[in-house]
Amino acid sequence: MLSEKMIELGTKKSTIRTIFEFGQKRIQEVGKENVFDFSLGNPSVPAPDFIKQAIKEILDEVDPLAIHGYTVAPGAPEVRAALAASISRRFGVKVSEKNLFLTAGAAAALTITFKAMGEAGDEFLTFAPFFPEYRCFVESVGAKLVVVPARVEDFQIDFEAFLHALTPKTKAVIVNSPNNPSGVVYSLDTVRRLTEILRAKEKEYGHPIFLISDEPYREIVYDGVEVPYFAKFYTNTIICYSYSKSFSLPGERIGYILVPDEIVDFPHVYGAIAGAARVLTHVNAPSLFQRVIARCADKTPDLSVYEKNGTLLYQGLLKAGFSCVKPQGAFYLFPKALEPDDYAFCERAKKYDLLLVPGTDFGCPGHFRAAYCVDTGMIERSLPFFAELAKEYR
Ligand code: PLP
Repeated sequence: MLSEKMIELGTKKSTIRTIFEFGQKRIQEVGKENVFDFSLGNPSVPAPDFIKQAIKEILDEVDPLAIHGYTVAPGAPEVRAALAASISRRFGVKVSEKNLFLTAGAAAALTITFKAMGEAGDEFLTFAPFFPEYRCFVESVGAKLVVVPARVEDFQIDFEAFLHALTPKTKAVIVNSPNNPSGVVYSLDTVRRLTEILRAKEKEYGHPIFLISDEPYREIVYDGVEVPYFAKFYTNTIICYSYSKSFSLPGERIGYILVPDEIVDFPHVYGAIAGAARVLTHVNAPSLFQRVIARCADKTPDLSVYEKNGTLLYQGLLKAGFSCVKPQGAFYLFPKALEPDDYAFCERAKKYDLLLVPGTDFGCPGHFRAAYCVDTGMIERSLPFFAELAKEYR
């Protein structure tokens, strides 16, 4: 009578949700200061003042019919033009309004992109560890998600495993750098090798393989690390961007899909994106926030607290005896669990009210994710408990 798959997706709680709810219950029991909830990737930095300022100006200056009205499906042309100019300046590329399609965040950008290109039997490849929602987004279009196992020593790409996973059914490869959950940024070398392989495979298979770059953490990087701009290395790149993390606007649902001119058959790719958006009832990205991001496109918020938190937690965990790849961006650490069963490890951590997410949920068992987009004081208070937890394994 109903779709079994949808019932399952809608009623089975995600691990992250379950952990978060456990944390809320523990807060009632032992107080907020004694619960160390590292489960959610919700920005802890408030949206910057320039966002508030832009909202006020728009409300004061712009006709309310325009502010709250429909826009054309890809987004208001003047908004796309402003974003395109900013992207062109920042990355040294040539992008115009016709290359952009504004969406309700990265989740919508990805789903629309998958729908535009995915057909039954297609395979979409991604690299562990990966954002778990990719699976249900890809499967919703009848395609299959193929996961390339992680290279756990540095969370760059295991190219042997990648070559093994590619087949003539590969429609696209999804990358996410800076990465959720590892915090790693793909090096120039990784990007070069990945795109060389894709070019060779396109030739061998005789059809395009799209590279979908999921970039909600692009601006959250440390130590001056450069995030290579995939479209400069590979023409069949589609970028899915979001302002959820960089501008701390996750509830406002605003982002974009960028389809470069150089992509194979631009009119059809862009057309398929518009078509996919239409059947997914996109209508248009939130109208007020289209205008807000257009006014703020060149602004850089102060996100330095994430770097401070990341360093504090990383060093604290190393001192306690954990091993972990040093994060270069985003706001997650992905250390090794202290026993092979990451679920058992995260259960044990709960004894200390340390709320961590098992790596298995990201396709990478034996690890756990700690989101450090939290209050710095919470990290400081949590470190002695990480040390106690580690002692149990000596
Ligand atoms: N992709 C990754 C890697 C994410 O971590 C997230 C959110 O946490 C998303 C996409 C979805 O972001 P948005 O809020 O823009 O839909």
